[in-house]
Amino acid sequence: MSRLRVAIQKSGRLSDRSLGVLKRCGLRFAHSKDKLFWFGQDFPVDLLLVRDDDIPRMLLDGVCELGIVGENIAREVMLERNGGTGLTCLRKLGFGQCRLSLAVPEDLEIGSLQELQGKRVATSYPALTRALLGEQGVTVQAVELSGSVEIAPGLGTADAISDLVSTGSTLRANHLRELEVLFRSQAALYSPSTPLPDEKQQLLDRLLARLEGVLQAAESKYVMLHAPREALDKITELLPGVEHPSVMPLEGSDRIAIHAVCVETVFWEHLEALKAVGASAILVLPVEKMLG
Ligand code: ATP
Ligand code: MG
Repeated sequence: MSRLRVAIQKSGRLSDRSLGVLKRCGLRFAHSKDKLFWFGQDFPVDLLLVRDDDIPRMLLDGVCELGIVGENIAREVMLERNGGTGLTCLRKLGFGQCRLSLAVPEDLEIGSLQELQGKRVATSYPALTRALLGEQGVTVQAVELSGSVEIAPGLGTADAISDLVSTGSTLRANHLRELEVLFRSQAALYSPSTPLPDEKQQLLDRLLARLEGVLQAAESKYVMLHAPREALDKITELLPGVEHPSVMPLEGSDRIAIHAVCVETVFWEHLEALKAVGASAILVLPVEKMLG
């Protein structure tokens, strides 16, 4: 029988969330802690635990059919190895958010990317940086560094950097100023762009349907409340991402019970608005699984 292989980061920022999302899709693995190959039980999907940089390469080389990796790495490897193509992003996963930003020393009087023309830019993402700057008509000299990119301007080995940022504290600590966001990235599920054999494609489709359910459930809430019957239309409008709520009579009362799955985030403001049109006993519950 066919099996699929998914590569995820062995240890790093994406590891826990990558494994977590696969487990929530119902995948179980037999493994010993230090092994790099985890055999899938129940569902024929096995796991490979590797360096994140290796994931796009393994997909391009046909070592595995699926991989979870930051869009930044997938784009870099595709540009470097394959003219910017070769992998398909099947689903963004909503974690590992960061941005690739161009930053310059605080005291350097540069106001636009164009002023960096011909300058040296230190980065771990030379191909992506060149491509993104190229789209804006700027050509730079990329100085490739695998880590500690932020110290390059201080050392005099580069004029600016292009690096991943999430809060910006590393930049500030190194007296760098974020000049422009070049690219926004998050973790995503990738596969090679070449077609899979039928059996593997069917397995992949099943996994993707489960994944969709898991990701939607993560955002969704089950909302229950009581309300006057005449407020039904207003309440339906106020429930985020709801078209047809379930409506039930309340024994011995002229009020009704309304139940609905909100597929968008429910904020306190939504609940306050519901209360203002007469809703009471409002309960918001997490949704664990969804298959639509
Ligand atoms: P590996 O040992 O697997 O090569 P790594 O050190 O290259 O690990 P991590 O630092 O674990 O990688 O980052 C993995 C991914 O997490 C990045 O490629 C990026 O997509 C994402 N990420 C999210 N926030 C940040 C951030 N502030 N800095 C760097 N990467 C981030
Ligand atoms: Mg890496």
